[in-house]
Amino acid sequence: MKSIEELARRHVFTIEPYRTARDDFSGEGFIFLDANELPFLGNERWNRYPDPYQAKIKQLISKQKSIAEKNIFLGNGSDEIIDLLIRLFCEPGQDHITIMPPTYGMYAVCAGVNNVGVHEITLSENFEIDLTLWHRSNSEKNKVLFLCSPNNPTGNCFNRQSINEILHSFSGIVVIDEAYNDFADGPGWKSEIKSCENLVVLQTMSKSWGLAGVRLGMAFASAKIIRLLNLIKLPYNVSGPAQEVIIEALSKPDRFAANIALIIAEREKLRHSLQKFPFVQNVFSSQANFLLVKVTNAADLYRYLLERGTIVRNRSSMVHCDNCLRITIGTSDENRQLLKLLEEYS
Ligand SMILES: *Cc1c(COP(=O)(O)O)cnc(C)c1O
Repeated sequence: MKSIEELARRHVFTIEPYRTARDDFSGEGFIFLDANELPFLGNERWNRYPDPYQAKIKQLISKQKSIAEKNIFLGNGSDEIIDLLIRLFCEPGQDHITIMPPTYGMYAVCAGVNNVGVHEITLSENFEIDLTLWHRSNSEKNKVLFLCSPNNPTGNCFNRQSINEILHSFSGIVVIDEAYNDFADGPGWKSEIKSCENLVVLQTMSKSWGLAGVRLGMAFASAKIIRLLNLIKLPYNVSGPAQEVIIEALSKPDRFAANIALIIAEREKLRHSLQKFPFVQNVFSSQANFLLVKVTNAADLYRYLLERGTIVRNRSSMVHCDNCLRITIGTSDENRQLLKLLEEYS
């Protein structure tokens, strides 16, 4: 196991972070003549820069998830955090990340933008981690492993044993992307950050919290990693309006739980209904808010639905996913309409 100091890019430790005058004090009642803001309200009430470290949101998340504030980093969606992690640990043109396809596309996109290589270790046919391939391919250049659990687009959580084996044998950074874990049965991995300095757990407000338009992603990790992320982020990466909406949403946990229960119930109902169609070969069990469905002709069904105003995702080009559509769980009314269209399809 390597230390975070050994894993992070060398130059990161020489960075002087951008400082604002407001880093030097806390409290209220000051006259703010330091940041070149408009001193009175413009068209809206957002004339002031927001809190760069989002202290209020972190307090609320800390309480709800039992994670210390020093172990929380917030980003402009988890996509921003994926990008920052690659920039923090991977030397362009030299290091690489590892992904396990079929999986979320942004890991490879962010690596590509940063001129960082992508090593692929295909999941087994039942969408589990192939530990033999993993152990065989592990190299010094591999700095960050991205595991998506529950995985997008397959919907399953990876075997805990396999993840544990990786956590305790890999010398690089393990990122577990839990964008969908609020829809899953298991507790996820965030409590493991206490014992595992090289683990980063990503979550997001975009799926279960219903705030995709607001853009807020969360990283839970050792204080060392969080400190370095804070060092390289843009000062105001979460906007003022976004911070306000999120504080509001976090104060309504009952509503959050009810939404999740609703989606899970709809997911299981839809899964059951889909299995009855003759052109459906498999509906994979899901721990997320979507279903991966294998049909006889995905391109044809995709076009049929599209022409009738219903858009699903054709994932056929991904490994082990031929003729698979990924269907997001809609409202019960939307799901009913989908089923009606499928009944008329032959
Ligand atoms: C949707 C999704 C995200 C995106 O998160 P944002 O917070 O909206 O950027 C991240 N990871 C996975 C696996 C996703 O499916």
